[in-house]
Amino acid sequence: MPVTKQLYELQEIDTEIEHAHQTLDLKKGQVGKREELDAVQKKLAADEKVLEELQHKRREAESELDDTSSKIKAVEEQLYGGKINNPKELGNLQHEMNTLKGFSDEQETKALEAIESMEAAENALAAANEDFKKLEAEWQQQQKQLKSDIESLNKTIDELTENRKLLVSQIDTTAVDLYEKVRKQKKQAVARVEQGICRACRISLSASVLQKARGGQPVQCGTCGRILFIS
Ligand SMILES: [Zn+2]
Repeated sequence: MPVTKQLYELQEIDTEIEHAHQTLDLKKGQVGKREELDAVQKKLAADEKVLEELQHKRREAESELDDTSSKIKAVEEQLYGGKINNPKELGNLQHEMNTLKGFSDEQETKALEAIESMEAAENALAAANEDFKKLEAEWQQQQKQLKSDIESLNKTIDELTENRKLLVSQIDTTAVDLYEKVRKQKKQAVARVEQGICRACRISLSASVLQKARGGQPVQCGTCGRILFIS
């Protein structure tokens, strides 16, 4: 096999290794990353606090209503108990009763509103909790997938590294050294030649350079310095 073809294959392996490393870094960065989940959980905790406040408000409204009902009952007993006959006193009691009943109506509306708000919050929280459970299960699944992806990427990298070693052992050392040198500068060390043009820099190559390249021996592009490969 011509040396330039070997170098081209080496470049392909290196590109694959590089891509595998990039994907690996990306996946590793996602391991244990649960900001989104934490944010949802934090919001749930806040919603739970709001619900507790609403529950408290409801109890308060109901207890106020109970209080007023007891007072009404007491006034009723006085009013209809027959012990009080003084018209002025009875008038006062009647007035007090009316005031209390007005209170009671207001408080009842308030209590009903409190119950409605509390129930709405309870339902919303239950739905949000369900959503969170699903999200968390998905996250667990993703983490499992990440772990398996990382394992398989590591395996791929090991295999590619072995292939690389084997290939390098078959290539002339001077050519490998040149490849490494150009790769350090250009990242892509080998450029294909098409219709007499270096595909990396798109400049026409001289006849003598083309002749050498056709021979399969490493020759660098006069413009970009890459090793030319004619397939
Ligand atoms: Zn070039």
